[in-house]
Amino acid sequence: MKILPLLALTLLLAGCAGSLRIDDRYPSRDQSSRVEFIVLHYTSSDLPDSLKTLSHGGVSAHYLLPADQAKIYRMVDENRRAWHAGDSQWRGRTWLNASSIGIEIVNPGYEDTPAGRRWHAYPQPQIDRLIALLKDIQARHGVAPANIVGHSDIAPQRKVDPGPLFPWRQLAAAGLIPWPKAATVQDKLRQLDGRVPEVAWFQHQLERAGYAVPQHGQLDQATRNVLAAFQMKYRPEQHDGQPDVHSAALLLALPPVE
Ligand SMILES: [Zn+2]
Repeated sequence: MKILPLLALTLLLAGCAGSLRIDDRYPSRDQSSRVEFIVLHYTSSDLPDSLKTLSHGGVSAHYLLPADQAKIYRMVDENRRAWHAGDSQWRGRTWLNASSIGIEIVNPGYEDTPAGRRWHAYPQPQIDRLIALLKDIQARHGVAPANIVGHSDIAPQRKVDPGPLFPWRQLAAAGLIPWPKAATVQDKLRQLDGRVPEVAWFQHQLERAGYAVPQHGQLDQATRNVLAAFQMKYRPEQHDGQPDVHSAALLLALPPVE
């Protein structure tokens, strides 16, 4: 009579020590990827330094794109969090590391010279590889086009990468990001008829586009930084953060974020 309880106890202990019983037969239809944003950066250093910093320098990204090699480095698994965005905000969401994939593009960034700030161009093959990678990530995670952004979009007070020479227009042509149609921009310019809207209008429109921006109606440095980030993306020829009629037309022509 004593053997049965002992046997039961042994089985119970075996059950505890063994693997958990997980039943996968009822997967829910109602689920989505945790990845909602893709954030683009430049490294502001060369490949060896970038590999060193991103592998054990206190910061990281999921992918690193060299300038002159056909391969792409994956340094953090897509299911895990990389440390690339920092204090950030886009479309009301904050601290985007948890919900984004970070891509670092090897590019020296800029140098300040007596003749002004000099930016470095991106080689076309590097951009071609980036577009292929973005299409792959977007397809697998269902990232909304409005959520493929630059570090300068989500942290305009601190960051300018990927900079004014980053060809956002090519990403738009590849169907990856929203872009104002040229004809719509012309229409809006005609409607505005040379009138530059008030600062409060710009602040409201920039917020609608996704940016974190003050709403006090004053053209302070924080507002200029946000407008400069917008201009850097959609009109890189002039990105001084000064409200002008062309920036207003671009904001009006930007497709509404769904
Ligand atoms: Zn960055």
